[in-house]
Amino acid sequence: MRFFLFFVFTSLFTVQAQTKPWQGKFEPIDNMIAVPNTYRTASGAPGSAYWQQRANYKIKAVIDESNNTLTGEETITYFNNSPDDLSYVWIQLEQNVNKKENEDFGNLRNSMRDSMTTRNLQFLTRAIDFPAGYSIKSVTDSSNNKLKTMVNNTMMKVKLNTILKSGESTKILISWSYPITDRSMYLLSREGYEYFPEDDNTVYLIAHWFPRMAVYSDTEGWQNQQFQKLGEFALEFGDYEVEITVPQDHIIASTGELQNSDAVLSKTQRKRLEVAKKSFDKPVMIITKEEAIANEKQKSTKQKTWKFNATNVRDFAFASSRKFIWDAQAVKLPTNTVMAMSFYPKEGLPVWQEVSTEAIKNGLEIYSEATFDYPYPVCISVNTSNIGMEFPMISFNGGRPINGEITEKAKQSMIGTIIHEVGHNWFPMIVSSDERKWMWMDEGLNTFLHQRTLKERYPSFASVTPQTIVPFMSGDKNILRPIMTNSDNELMTQFGSNFYRKPTVGLQMLRHSIIGEELFDEAFKEYANRWKYKHPNPADLFRTLEDATATDLDWFYRGWFFTTDHVDMELSHVKWFKVYEDELNIEDKKGTSKSKIASQADSSKTINKDFSNGPEVITMTTTPDKAYGQFLSRIDEAQVRKQVSGKNIYEITITNIGGLVMPVTIKWEFKDGTSEIDRLPADLWRRNEYEIQETFIKEKEVISVTLDPNFEFADTNTENNSFPKTETISEFEKFKHNK
Ligand SMILES: [Zn+2]
Repeated sequence: MRFFLFFVFTSLFTVQAQTKPWQGKFEPIDNMIAVPNTYRTASGAPGSAYWQQRANYKIKAVIDESNNTLTGEETITYFNNSPDDLSYVWIQLEQNVNKKENEDFGNLRNSMRDSMTTRNLQFLTRAIDFPAGYSIKSVTDSSNNKLKTMVNNTMMKVKLNTILKSGESTKILISWSYPITDRSMYLLSREGYEYFPEDDNTVYLIAHWFPRMAVYSDTEGWQNQQFQKLGEFALEFGDYEVEITVPQDHIIASTGELQNSDAVLSKTQRKRLEVAKKSFDKPVMIITKEEAIANEKQKSTKQKTWKFNATNVRDFAFASSRKFIWDAQAVKLPTNTVMAMSFYPKEGLPVWQEVSTEAIKNGLEIYSEATFDYPYPVCISVNTSNIGMEFPMISFNGGRPINGEITEKAKQSMIGTIIHEVGHNWFPMIVSSDERKWMWMDEGLNTFLHQRTLKERYPSFASVTPQTIVPFMSGDKNILRPIMTNSDNELMTQFGSNFYRKPTVGLQMLRHSIIGEELFDEAFKEYANRWKYKHPNPADLFRTLEDATATDLDWFYRGWFFTTDHVDMELSHVKWFKVYEDELNIEDKKGTSKSKIASQADSSKTINKDFSNGPEVITMTTTPDKAYGQFLSRIDEAQVRKQVSGKNIYEITITNIGGLVMPVTIKWEFKDGTSEIDRLPADLWRRNEYEIQETFIKEKEVISVTLDPNFEFADTNTENNSFPKTETISEFEKFKHNK
């Protein structure tokens, strides 16, 4: 069947002149993201042929405290679930990043200044020659046959003696050791040891410590980006059986569940742990401050082996020291009860004991609600000197009081760090994106939920909002990069804003202002559940959020993720019209009946700066028959006249100065002191990306109009958002305000 449609165009539809060339801001991003296939569907879900490799590890490791070395023997069982036969595999050797000959890698600061600290000079020149990196003693197959290896910086190629066929598995045995690095010696050290000269003790924070499988995937083949410190990790899931031998008086906090508590914990400690398992309201001390101080003095030369098992994790980390104070409590989630535990030296007191385990609990609850229940048996926060770093079930979190005192700001940042690192259990430890390539995928999504946790559980804390990102978004475009930039290509000064806060604000805008909370939350949950224990790419996230909300977000992704444009909308003009009817005769077929608009205002074309000239005069005529064309019915003239009679009509013109298209929120303040808000979708900009006009009828007389009144869209210049034009604040006033 065909319909013949007759459109009658009147002068209402004028072609708005565009001042600049069309940029296609609403065009689909299909050519900018991966093409869907049987592995990854067009809806953003894992496809029917989705596959993923798997690697199980059995590791025995020993910390030699006198030499600060870690020695290990491991068996990797590698499952080739790919459709491909493999003749070689790649194994990651992240410890090699600090090797002397690899100094071009991980070189994050490289400029000299007039005056520099010795520490910064060490970062720059590696002035202390430390023998970092692995000694690989042997690499063999399960029959003890040597496997040929080639090391390329932080990666090792292992040639297999027989082809690893699709669907089969192989075992690789590696024996290795490395000197544990002093965390203070290297910039961006996430692991290593921290030495406490006062009591001659060490806290070992052991991570990316064992040679482990690189990811082989449908989109990358073998992951081939070297570890250069900023870009983190791409890892496969597997089960771990790990035995760690440490001095007898050490306490270990680790990924996984402790298998031999009888052999490593005292009877008192085990009893207290049983109490903690039933303590849902507050932590129970497993090792008190006094006990930890007594432990510090032991300096045992005997050893003890701790055994941990972890199921379905993509990494494994642990901390070991005789300095640890330890508290624990249970957290009940709908489908899991988790032991939330904190380990800290006395230097973390008193604040760590007061806030750490509670912060874990808050993180576990809010993230579980927003995605899926935390699936692991334990969730641990270990106190360190600085920065936070995440691993499955355990995180190393920086921040200590000075002489027992801590500022409110430092305390808030410490709690924020704990929640953030606990949150990384979801992104990327379970929803396992490639951190080496896309830092924003885990940091952005995690910071989004971390900020939501702060807002819900710590409402008085400072948190990220669209306003937070304004200084970054209005920065020098020559140093700005789009969010869709590879992790290691971002500047040290910019990655926090670009990979953490900008994606967070983007998600906040989608949730609060573009999609709406209910629909967005469902879609976000959908993404997390679709990709848990899998490897999502950016396209999978982009597609899922559209697919699960019936919202075309290509314009948003294109602008927010692929460009460095910012939001700056200008309320350029507001025109006020008013219709007065002093004579109404709709029966007047001659069309001479006119609605006379009475106004004292001068209806000249000058642009008003405020409403003082009063409404402009317009003429409303009866629609002539010929304008209806083939339509036999007619609009109700009387009804239309009644609707507009005596009311205020406002035509507003908005100019897009920043480049990003966004929804438009308009606040109207009325003469009688009341106000209302109109919310218009970003689609307004589809046909003219630079300037739009919209017309509104208001019963009441408007005294002011403001764009983005609640700062929802990170508008970088709010001085041009109002009518009547507000007085421009002087540079000096701004400076004073910023102070
Ligand atoms: Zn993070």
